[in-house]
Amino acid sequence: MYDVKKNLHEVLATLSDGVRLVAISKYHPAEYIMAAYEEGQRVFGESHEQEIREKHEALPKDIEWHFIGHLQTNKVKYIVPYISMIEAVDSLKLLREIEKQAAKHDRVVRVLLELHIAEEATKYGLTLEACRQLLADGEWRDMPHVKICGLMMMASNTDDEVRIINEFQTAEHFYDEVKSNYFASDPDFCERSWGMSDDYLLAQQHGSTMVRIGTRIFGPRVY
Ligand SMILES: *Cc1c(COP(=O)(O)O)cnc(C)c1O
Repeated sequence: MYDVKKNLHEVLATLSDGVRLVAISKYHPAEYIMAAYEEGQRVFGESHEQEIREKHEALPKDIEWHFIGHLQTNKVKYIVPYISMIEAVDSLKLLREIEKQAAKHDRVVRVLLELHIAEEATKYGLTLEACRQLLADGEWRDMPHVKICGLMMMASNTDDEVRIINEFQTAEHFYDEVKSNYFASDPDFCERSWGMSDDYLLAQQHGSTMVRIGTRIFGPRVY
């Protein structure tokens, strides 16, 4: 097996104060997750509903699962009972469905709004303008079972560091805007989920509070 324990400790040693690790375990077997778990890691991220369900059922119950992928509204009901955070909310429609399902289970689901900042057309997420509109519209205020805890984004997949830094700065400034306009008195709105295996060191310099790292811990994914 890839040396998960060694890699995990190497990554943890490079994290700045105030930055938490979400270990992205998608496509990796349960034994890899257990190797990290045995070293104390409790937060794991997955991007497919069926895979996260199977892992949730098979693995220790004190694992905090984050859903990091694009979530279809018809899948919300399956993950709401146990999910710790839904990181990639990219529409009001999805937010409404989370509210509806969370109400049924009498729980509050923590979410992040996903921003689309990278230039790639394939990435999901809200444009800054769409995110402003969603917040200005205000319907989210009437969703007692949804707790918006911050923002999430993925930088462009490129070697161009200047571009990556620009994208993180855009996200950081936008976070400040949203925090002061809507969440100034809400201490729960505090998360900035950016940074992956190849760019988390840069992300940490630009306000990240949560890094989502897969490959650097678990090795290359076999699809
Ligand atoms: C797969 C994935 C990651 C992890 O990427 P690595 O390059 O393996 O660290 C992070 N965030 C999201 C949204 C992902 O889908």
